[in-house]
Amino acid sequence: MDWASVILGAFIGVAGVFGLTSLALYPLMRRSFLLWNFGRTLGFSLIALTALPATQPNWVYQNFGDIGVALSAACAGPFLASYLEPGLGFGALRRWLRLTGLLGVAAAIATPFSVAFPVLTAVHDFLLLVTIAAVVTGLVVAIRRGSRAARYQAFAWAPLIAVGVAELSYELATGQEYWLWPLAVLIAVVADFIITALGLIDGFMIIKRERDTAIADVREATRASTLDPLTGIANRRGLAQRFADAAAGRPVGLAVIDCDHFKRINDNFGHGVGDEALVAVAQALEGEDLFIGRLGGEEFVALVYAENWQELAEQARQRIDMGVRMRAPHLGFRVTASAGLAAVHDDDTLDSAIKRADRALYAAKDAGRDCSLLAADPDPGEVRLAQVL
Ligand code: GH3
Ligand code: MG
Ligand code: MG
Repeated sequence: MDWASVILGAFIGVAGVFGLTSLALYPLMRRSFLLWNFGRTLGFSLIALTALPATQPNWVYQNFGDIGVALSAACAGPFLASYLEPGLGFGALRRWLRLTGLLGVAAAIATPFSVAFPVLTAVHDFLLLVTIAAVVTGLVVAIRRGSRAARYQAFAWAPLIAVGVAELSYELATGQEYWLWPLAVLIAVVADFIITALGLIDGFMIIKRERDTAIADVREATRASTLDPLTGIANRRGLAQRFADAAAGRPVGLAVIDCDHFKRINDNFGHGVGDEALVAVAQALEGEDLFIGRLGGEEFVALVYAENWQELAEQARQRIDMGVRMRAPHLGFRVTASAGLAAVHDDDTLDSAIKRADRALYAAKDAGRDCSLLAADPDPGEVRLAQVL
């Protein structure tokens, strides 16, 4: 069994899975570090391919190995530039890291010409050492500024950086490759894959948590935007939403209910007491087959979902007096209300139905308050006393 080939083949398989997973995630996440990570795995695979015993004697493959080293080093800086947490700024640092990619590319370009110009081998090694130094500087700066991603990457790359610096320095000093180089690189790259993958998972979990929180916040904000903060019942937007809600069905009729002489309550007892009374009114209005909302001020709307809608609306209005007395007995005054009722037609919007009910409400106020009047169909200008139990 040719164990070296088996190990290298397995390594290329692992690199392929890791690289292709990054590539597959790119359309979902649109973060360029995934592409740079794919590039890094391609570079590593090239190194491993050239290290296979069958390909070792061929100088073309040897060059491919050096190009692979240079390309994977070239991808490291841009990878980190995109990988650092988006919220942390790092504008200048990211530009610096992207530029380090050019050094790696220059090292890759120098490689094929080193056959004709041996000095370029040293240039290649030197450029790679500078690339490593530049990326390490970026890592240190990012860690000092609190980047969790950079901390993970420092762990992931530490073995590779150590092996790379040792090997390149040895090669620059002696002009020869160290025999343990391929094995050391292989181990360091596997460590890189494992820790980088853990870092990516950690990053995804953080993104997922942030996304879940953002979705919950939006849901809560949407819900809150349909509620009246004082009474906790629906506001005008909530009423409109309910009116248009096909699942809830269409209300048969609605009532606009306005507290009588409410200004006097505020004037005599203060705004705080008035607020308390409004909360008690909202609670008193709640009932079966009703959806209650606060239009604004001391004005409420009841959407009624039953054939005896006039009766239910009138009962709701009458509940206010007793309801406020029971819920807030310390207030020590009566709160009555007048109501305008309107049937909801097929072509009605919430506003058009409210408009008809409003006319009846004005008439109820004119009629002496503490009563309900019904906007007559088909002429909403006419009103008559609502059907009372
Ligand atoms: P009417 O019987 O004709 O409806 O008399 P009214 O005093 O109830 O009507 P008007 O429209 O003159 O005054 C409404 C009052 O409702 C005025 C305002 O101070 C009070 N009001 C509106 N919104 C609030 C609120 O959120 N809290 C309190 N405490 N009072 C409010
Ligand atoms: Mg009023
Ligand atoms: Mg009013």
